[in-house]
Amino acid sequence: MAPRTQAARKPASAECPVCKGTGEVPITVRVGRRRRAVGQQNGYCLTCFGTGEAPTD
Ligand SMILES: [Zn+2]
Repeated sequence: MAPRTQAARKPASAECPVCKGTGEVPITVRVGRRRRAVGQQNGYCLTCFGTGEAPTD
């Protein structure tokens, strides 16, 4: 068999498409009974669990 090139495999650590590899995503902060949005803060990316790497599954 001919040896395969590396192009056949994906990189081991692909960038998470949700957080763009940062491990954090913007989350809208709401307060009060009216749920008024007061701004955004960085939250833990649940897609890659904060690693910034795309899930292999
Ligand atoms: Zn992510």
